[in-house]
Amino acid sequence: MTDTLFSYTDAEEVTLFVDLVLPIPVPRLFTYRVKRDMAALIKIGARVIVPFGKSRVITAVVASLHNHPPQNYQARYVLELLDEYPLVTGYQLQLFAWMAEYYMCCIGEVMNVALPSGLKITSQSKVQYNPDFEHPDLLTPQEVTLMEDLKKHPSLSYEELGRLVGEVNVPTLIKSLVGKRAVIVFDEVKEKYVPKMVRKVRLHRNYEQPEQLLALLQRLDKLPKQQEVVMRYLRHVPMQRNPALNEQGLEKGILNQDDELSQSSLGTLVKNGVFETFELIQPRFSDTFSPQKEIVLTAAQRTASDSIMAEFAQKNIVLFHGITGSGKTEVYIDLIQKVLAGGSQVMYLLPEIALTTQIVVRLQKVFGDKMGIYHSKFSDNERVEVWKGVVSGQFQFVIGVRSAVFLPFDNLGLIIVDEEHETSYKQHDPAPRYHARDVAMMLAHWQQAKVLLGSATPSIETYYQAKQGRYGLVELFQRYGDANLPFISLINTKQEKKQKTMKNEFSSALYNALADNLERGEQSILFQNRRGYSPYLQCEDCEWTSQCLNCAVSLTYHQRAAELRCHYCGHKEDVPKVCPTCGSTKVRTVGYGTEKLEDQLQILFPAARIQRMDLDTTRAKNAYQQIISEFEHGNVDILVGTQMITKGLDFDNVSLVGIFDADRIIRWPEFRATERAFQMMTQVSGRAGRRADRQGRVLIQTSDPSQVVLQKIIDNDYLGLYDEEIVERRDFNYPPFSRLIKLTVRHTDQRVSKKAADVLCASLAAQLGDERVLGPEQPLVERIRNQFLYDILIKLEREKINFKAVKAFIQSCITDILTDKGLRAVSVIIDVDCL
Ligand code: ADP
Ligand code: ZN
Ligand code: ZN
Repeated sequence: MTDTLFSYTDAEEVTLFVDLVLPIPVPRLFTYRVKRDMAALIKIGARVIVPFGKSRVITAVVASLHNHPPQNYQARYVLELLDEYPLVTGYQLQLFAWMAEYYMCCIGEVMNVALPSGLKITSQSKVQYNPDFEHPDLLTPQEVTLMEDLKKHPSLSYEELGRLVGEVNVPTLIKSLVGKRAVIVFDEVKEKYVPKMVRKVRLHRNYEQPEQLLALLQRLDKLPKQQEVVMRYLRHVPMQRNPALNEQGLEKGILNQDDELSQSSLGTLVKNGVFETFELIQPRFSDTFSPQKEIVLTAAQRTASDSIMAEFAQKNIVLFHGITGSGKTEVYIDLIQKVLAGGSQVMYLLPEIALTTQIVVRLQKVFGDKMGIYHSKFSDNERVEVWKGVVSGQFQFVIGVRSAVFLPFDNLGLIIVDEEHETSYKQHDPAPRYHARDVAMMLAHWQQAKVLLGSATPSIETYYQAKQGRYGLVELFQRYGDANLPFISLINTKQEKKQKTMKNEFSSALYNALADNLERGEQSILFQNRRGYSPYLQCEDCEWTSQCLNCAVSLTYHQRAAELRCHYCGHKEDVPKVCPTCGSTKVRTVGYGTEKLEDQLQILFPAARIQRMDLDTTRAKNAYQQIISEFEHGNVDILVGTQMITKGLDFDNVSLVGIFDADRIIRWPEFRATERAFQMMTQVSGRAGRRADRQGRVLIQTSDPSQVVLQKIIDNDYLGLYDEEIVERRDFNYPPFSRLIKLTVRHTDQRVSKKAADVLCASLAAQLGDERVLGPEQPLVERIRNQFLYDILIKLEREKINFKAVKAFIQSCITDILTDKGLRAVSVIIDVDCL
């Protein structure tokens, strides 16, 4: 008896502490105390508000609960608990910690990127009585009065205090009180997330039964306007057949949209208690797509889907290698339905969802509003809604871009990574510089989910794993609906230039093909991987070229905007009328981007309807969709674009694809250039010829048709490409045979930057050896935003190496540099598994 009594008292006295993830770049957790009344409610994964530093308060997430006070500092109190039900799951906390460790950054940085900012906090200063205040004797009479006021309220804003204490200078008063530790100043917490409300109406409950309803309508015979409003309501909400429908009501706007009369009639009906108004939180994706489409897989797709399931019985990761237009999406849908039916969650990752609206529409037809969409162009509120929808179970299935890996899933059954070879899965800035495909695999591992990697042009790394038997491999080499892959040919621009048959940038072959296509009313896509009008301006007399002030790169000429722009730092300049150096008027454009092609097309084909799709034409939220929809509806004959047009688009009237400047894509100075060239050109080619009755054509303009990769593209010879690439990767010890970590040293003074890079490189090489540490080397663009850059590349073998220990060593070398007095203000960016 006494035992239980004692342990009860003990428990009462033990103080609860929490370790918190704070959204700041410091590599540790922070311990805070929890007040008794909060202790019973606080849970791992909940958000809290805590004081930090002298005057800040910030939102943090609870990582653990315990009874150990911190050793070397006095723990402060948690000010407020934001969630009774945690918004962050245990899996997410595990993910944050893993990412911080793996990608060599701080857990707070991970959290900062992971949480939509609507789940963080905005602030406004407030003052609170300090419950630990110990020296009332220090207070002036005026301060004593104010403290009395403060005691009566949980907290007060400066403004409210001003009203209470009258004329006094409130900030000075507060400052004095803060000095005496009598009050705490913090920022008022206000959640940014504002749910969207819709105003609705419904009939009063007294009219729900058919006989009551009939009586009402009869009564309104003499008031036809009002009767019409009720009738209109019934047309939208047929409650005469099912009274329960009344509960959900109808949006007010629908009922009184067109005329003022119906508005006033509705007003009267509400006043008389016939209708009642109410408000409802509107989910942001309620464009109510009712699930409708039944998909029937082709025999080949059925086999693929079944083989994937069979592989999953043995392996956790399967590569689905299916050519463009084979209908991979249909296979995904089949699998998603199976997994959802089994009660597990599904995540479907896409490189950049804005670029693939067509897929979203297709999926929506099948999954309706059970599907959440997580998109980089979505507003923060929309993201918060998806987040909460996953927690609540509303969204068992989410389609999203790379940041969707941060959503609070806890029961994943399947993760699909579509176009797994895409580089946009890797985040470049800010930290964590994570690869969503790799993170997805980690998530799947923890939750015992399966991962399906899909691509027509798998990354060499992934294909290697499949060949090694570590991943399952399922192939689908047949286009849907008996369509054939397009016929690809090479156009020798060098020759055409010599023969003077080029029309501007257009070879005669491409020109003729475009003309034919226009004649037949078929659509064409032209790919040039460079936006703007021309990459630079040059003076014919003195060779001056347009250069960015802040970066070691030329300024791109944008004709529509009449500007010179830096694509690295965003710097803009007016276009000079004459050469800024010698005053010559002979300033010409050199090279060509999408804008220039668009102009030339308009001159070559005056009757053609031309549309351009690149970063510059798609900045507005819906611009991308609009262009796609115009093209889809046949209002555009020729679509010119950058990388954006290479992905996922599916138009059955496209029979010609033209590719410009293949040489530049192939010769990019980077070890993955060949792989990228193959992927890019194969993907864009895949937009052509999606109909069985018509052979698609692709024309590639190149000055050197003998380049090996071009033949592989023509033959759709992925295996040939793989066989050659893998030998090179092995010979030079590149991924998948090694892991790469890139360190970029930055400083505004080139000598400091170089010195730091040299020192860092030397200390790394001393331990790791010269063959593992390459550089320092200036990157292609050696100065960005006035910072001089030096890259160091670390190559680590995959086997027999303690990756964790090596990273700790690298980190310590970096810390040495950052704390070296002679090298002050140098920064080092760490990119693990850099692309
Ligand atoms: P991929 O992603 O492999 O390039 P898609 O999934 O875009 O191919 O499919 C190409 C086209 O074929 C799409 O328009 C798609 O709707 C259609 N399609 C593929 N499979 C089927 C099917 N089983 N039933 C109806 N249409 C299909
Ligand atoms: Zn000049
Ligand atoms: Zn610049």
